[in-house]
Amino acid sequence: MKPDIQGIGMTSFRTRERLIQRLRAGGITDQEVLDSVRAVPRHVFIDEALASRAYEDTALPIGYGQTISQPYIVARMCQCLRQGRRLQNVLEIGTGSGYQTAVLSRLAERVYTVERIDALLKRARLLLRRLGVLNAHLRHADGSQGWPEHAPFDGIVVSAAPAEIPPPLLAQLAPGARLVIPVGDAGMQELLVIQRNESDFTRERLELVNFVPLVKDRL
Ligand code: SAH
Repeated sequence: MKPDIQGIGMTSFRTRERLIQRLRAGGITDQEVLDSVRAVPRHVFIDEALASRAYEDTALPIGYGQTISQPYIVARMCQCLRQGRRLQNVLEIGTGSGYQTAVLSRLAERVYTVERIDALLKRARLLLRRLGVLNAHLRHADGSQGWPEHAPFDGIVVSAAPAEIPPPLLAQLAPGARLVIPVGDAGMQELLVIQRNESDFTRERLELVNFVPLVKDRL
């Protein structure tokens, strides 16, 4: 079963449609991605006090100094990752609220997601279960190591910014697969798309972005 429109009135429905229009205007053309964003109830992933802002195109706090990603960035990353094809197994680093995991769960057969803050992971697991997302697998670990047991991945998306690309993530890309990752110092990073080819990697720069840092620590 997949998450779907539920438990919201017409006002919220219209607010969601406005968000979709905004994503379209911002260059999101992949209909599957737009449908997935439309279907996932973002208000479920944030605190009730902020729920009225759930369909604004902005990042919002989710506790522990972290944020739920801006819908445009989620859509942009999914569009780059997918390139119009159905994904098999995707690795997400930085589960956070679980919102992007839910969006990805509709675009891929299996989603593997890694989060270093256990309390966030537990909450995300509960919410995803409640929404009927059955194809997402969550792990409490340092995401810069990837998830070698399930590699190689058809796509890897990173929601927190390292200073440099962690080598294990490159190693865990299947041939033809892409890694979408913000890289740089706190405050401003470049969103990069790395593609693994048969014998090399190609790199494309997208826009400047502002993610929380990918924290290096031993868990
Ligand atoms: N896409 C998420 C964004 C969460 S913010 C959402 O929509 O909610 C990024 C997350 O990355 C934070 O929860 C943070 O704890 C996590 N993170 C930071 N460094 C990490 C690391 N080394 N390994 C795993 N997760 C990490």
